Amino acid sequence: MSGTLFIITAPSGAGKTTLVRSLLRRDHQVRLSISYTTRVPRAGERDGGDYHFVDVQTFKALRDAGEFLEWAEVHGNYYATSKVWIKEQIEKDHDILLEIDWQGAQQVRKVFPQAVGVFIMPPSMEELENRLVGRGTDSESTIARRMLGARSEMRHVGEFDYVIINNELHVALDDLVSVVRASRLRYTKQRARHPGYFDYLEQD
Ligand code: 5GP
Repeated sequence: MSGTLFIITAPSGAGKTTLVRSLLRRDHQVRLSISYTTRVPRAGERDGGDYHFVDVQTFKALRDAGEFLEWAEVHGNYYATSKVWIKEQIEKDHDILLEIDWQGAQQVRKVFPQAVGVFIMPPSMEELENRLVGRGTDSESTIARRMLGARSEMRHVGEFDYVIINNELHVALDDLVSVVRASRLRYTKQRARHPGYFDYLEQD
């Protein structure tokens, strides 16, 4: 397996989606996994593009049939990663990016211990609250709930290999691009990518 599996996790409001979109524009080798969810689509979201939107019954049927690499309940909705898609991409030696929560990250690590985990943090709790308030879409109680949720997500930061503090988007993006590029250069990946070259060195 010469491709790398990246797991990106962040509390809501840390800027993960913007960062990931920018990374995909800069690095065409990375493919984004489209998750399944039972959440209703937000304005502008496309089925098959942002998520595979399914009802709870379909989700449970797929889960029980073993179709998911991992699944979790987040904010009252179900989310999951397709096993078949991941398997196909791995067989093609592609780099894969999973945008999932900490519970999903734990499950994926069990199956793929060599996965590279990246946690995106907001600059501070104050700044996170400012961002959530600034969106102007949520009530005070929703914001308070999201702040609590963010804190419990962030308690898992130590389970990740890399931490990016998203203070300025362009700096955080450079950091993320660096993590992706450096991960590709690990010995095991280079060896898998150029087997003939490395085999030659081991010949007597
Ligand atoms: P949202 O509904 O805002 O798009 O996502 C809510 C949360 O669900 C985010 O923390 C996101 O990372 C997480 N999430 C999205 N897809 C998956 C998935 O396939 N598996 C898991 N475990 N979490 C996911």
